[in-house]
Amino acid sequence: MWTLVLNSGSSSLKFAVLDPASGETRLSGLAERLGAEAASMRLDVAGPGEGGRRQTHALNGGSYAEAMRLVLAELETLGLRSEVRAVGHRVVHGGSRFSAPATITPEVLGAIRDCVPLAPLHNPANIAGIEAAMNAFPELPQVAVFDTAFHQTLPEVAYRYAVPEAWFTQHGVRRYGFHGISHSFVAGEAARMLGRPLSGLNLITAHLGNGCSVCAVAGGRSVGTSMGLTPLEGLVMGTRSGDVDPGLHDYLARVSGLTLTQITAALNRESGLLALSGLTNDMRELEEAAARGHVGARLAVEIFAYRLAQGMASMAVALGRVDGVVFTGGIGENSASVRAATLARLPFLGLELDVAANAAAVHGQGGSIGAPDRLPALVVNTNEEWMIARETAGLLTPTAQ
Ligand code: AMP
Repeated sequence: MWTLVLNSGSSSLKFAVLDPASGETRLSGLAERLGAEAASMRLDVAGPGEGGRRQTHALNGGSYAEAMRLVLAELETLGLRSEVRAVGHRVVHGGSRFSAPATITPEVLGAIRDCVPLAPLHNPANIAGIEAAMNAFPELPQVAVFDTAFHQTLPEVAYRYAVPEAWFTQHGVRRYGFHGISHSFVAGEAARMLGRPLSGLNLITAHLGNGCSVCAVAGGRSVGTSMGLTPLEGLVMGTRSGDVDPGLHDYLARVSGLTLTQITAALNRESGLLALSGLTNDMRELEEAAARGHVGARLAVEIFAYRLAQGMASMAVALGRVDGVVFTGGIGENSASVRAATLARLPFLGLELDVAANAAAVHGQGGSIGAPDRLPALVVNTNEEWMIARETAGLLTPTAQ
């Protein structure tokens, strides 16, 4: 049986058709610039061996609905239409309501809509993707898999902020955490690589992509994480600041005349690696520029690793005992220099780098990068699509998982 997995962004739609049991992917693709003239969609059809084909279609200002129509047409061409049994959707914010995946009903869709104020950029796009898929595949069960759900096991000491209680009780101001699909997937993979049951492991996982977060995973459950009420808190990211002084907003509004909305937008889109380097938010380009001697790029990479090490050390507090650390996401899976700079700041956790293994763990080659007899440090390739497919299938046929 195949599962269609959809990850809808504000102007993009990423999708994959895969087997939840094995992770085998038959069809995948990405629609970009949805809603604009230049909208286009890339389709990758897997073939035997090195075979397969890639096609790019213009979508002419296309919407989610048009992108879905193309997915549907391709499934029919491949004779897979009737073999797709469910659609799994990544939904960014499920608030305190969802601690597990949920079959989408009008009531569940309403609850996802209620979370829009908590994720104004993400949840509306997720809803648009869900509605387009419900129209294109009306007979299939649709399942929402939440990025926040994994963190619903956070203890109160980890999720409460020291703010007036009414903010929490009336407005839901608390830490929710994000990237849960990835943190839980890589924790499971790490246990497999270590040959130990997940239930007995305390792991620090670092998801480092355009957005970045760390998580404390105790026995497969999240007990600490760096992202909070929104995905802006915590580590330095591509264009997001991560932690700043909460007094910054008031100060800047007074001295610069910027509005709260402008300040928040700048903290989300004009900060992070982009601001520190004055160059780009892309870590690969930063590493190249740093190697050429670009001062801003060097500073950006250095601060990124410093704040990441701080974040990982703080997860040790949540865990008490640490059995291993895991790097994942585009940066975690590929940047040997970020991993080296980060581990160099964490010798007190028992971490020490195996330089050759670290240099080899790039371009999808996960593996162990820690020195022998030291705390295990692993590079694990995340696969959020597979995790969503597994969660979707698990909800619909619990005994099959
Ligand atoms: P993601 O959001 O997981 O796709 O990750 C995107 C980030 O990974 C960007 O900052 C990329 O520059 C970074 N990245 C991807 N490949 C490499 C690489 N080979 N070396 C360093 N960073 C990389």
